[in-house]
Amino acid sequence: MAKATILLVEDSKTQAKAIKKFLESEGYNVTWVEDGKSAINAAKTQPPDIVLLDVVLPDLNGHEVCRWLKLNQTTRSIPVIMLTAKGSTPDKVTGLEAGADDYIPKPFEEMELNARIYACLRTKALQDDLKLKNRQLEELLERVEVLAVTDPLTELFNRRRFETVLEKEFKRTDRYHTPLSCLMIDIDHFKKINDKYGHHVGDAVLQDIARIIKNNFREIDIISRWGGEEFVVLLPQTDRAAALKSAKRLLQSISIFQFPGLKDKKVTISIGVASAPSTNISSGETLINSSDLAMYEAKKNGRNRIEVV
Ligand code: GH3
Ligand code: MG
Ligand code: MG
Ligand code: MG
Repeated sequence: MAKATILLVEDSKTQAKAIKKFLESEGYNVTWVEDGKSAINAAKTQPPDIVLLDVVLPDLNGHEVCRWLKLNQTTRSIPVIMLTAKGSTPDKVTGLEAGADDYIPKPFEEMELNARIYACLRTKALQDDLKLKNRQLEELLERVEVLAVTDPLTELFNRRRFETVLEKEFKRTDRYHTPLSCLMIDIDHFKKINDKYGHHVGDAVLQDIARIIKNNFREIDIISRWGGEEFVVLLPQTDRAAALKSAKRLLQSISIFQFPGLKDKKVTISIGVASAPSTNISSGETLINSSDLAMYEAKKNGRNRIEVV
């Protein structure tokens, strides 16, 4: 283990020399400064593992130095042990109030100093460890949260996430009287693709289609994998006519796309479009249901087409 470094702040040369000599004999690296300003500078530029801080100093007093160290982002986690005059309770109280982690009355026995330094370093190591673990946990939680709302194959929002966004968007639409449209998209005869080319190729087609959909819409549109080979797109501030226009563009983009695993075979989709405001649509759920019904109409009417309600 690397030697722990101690910043010793002590204006009495005799005392400082003795303490430094003792601490070095105990295996610590010691930097010695004689006043408050030098202490702050040293702690900022080369943060030590611990600060031994005398109270009475020629410029700032120890309490002020301590308060500064504890307020500053880069130095606040460094333990501070105040060296107080023996029996001076006000000194102890002020020191602890200033954020000191411990205090040692002067004159002290070397053994006690050593034990207190050791205890402070042990607490610091535990705290550092805890901070690291907390950070790791937070990162893990963030990843889990993203995974919980993401479809792993296409990296689009999954249905769960879509449903929460849908209700929020619907409320917004209702409140501000802006239009909101929904496209339900289903791949035509997808089962045949799986049967003929295999599930892996089927997966790749789903990924390509997800990408084409993404490229066809705006940042503010919400795209989700609704089910196996079904996708849904929510278009905020988009009326029926504009939604139909983007549905046509998507239908075209997919029907001309050359899918790598499918040789010359083309893939088509059927799209159902529904828009709010409309008399039959009073919630996000009814908006989705309407677009779903329209999609089934498109299937019934021959596929590779769009139906609008
Ligand atoms: P239609 O034109 O009526 O929609 O016909 P279809 O074959 O597309 O519809 P159907 O509902 O009969 O079949 C959907 C197929 O999608 C069946 C299922 O195995 C396949 N599928 C669902 N999820 C996945 C997936 O993640 N990967 C692959 N490769 N296939 C999937
Ligand atoms: Mg002093
Ligand atoms: Mg389907
Ligand atoms: Mg299908």
